[in-house]
Amino acid sequence: MALNCIFCHQCVVNTDSSKGHPVSIPPFGIAHSKCAEQDLLHKRVFKGLHIAELDNESFRELKEMVLAEDNVRNGITEEIDLF
Ligand SMILES: [Zn+2]
Repeated sequence: MALNCIFCHQCVVNTDSSKGHPVSIPPFGIAHSKCAEQDLLHKRVFKGLHIAELDNESFRELKEMVLAEDNVRNGITEEIDLF
């Protein structure tokens, strides 16, 4: 098995720590943790969810769920009267 990062193609061992620690990216191989993070941000993938691939309706639902969860975590109730 190759010990090169699947993103930057540099060896994941014996490199400086600025690229993070080696992580396994099944089934593709291994990568630096920071390279993998950058790749996920670029693809807009979060915890396996491909955000860029959602249709508009699904994206709208996701956005509302995130905002609702944010409100709950900040102690803001859903019952606020906006009018
Ligand atoms: Zn890398």
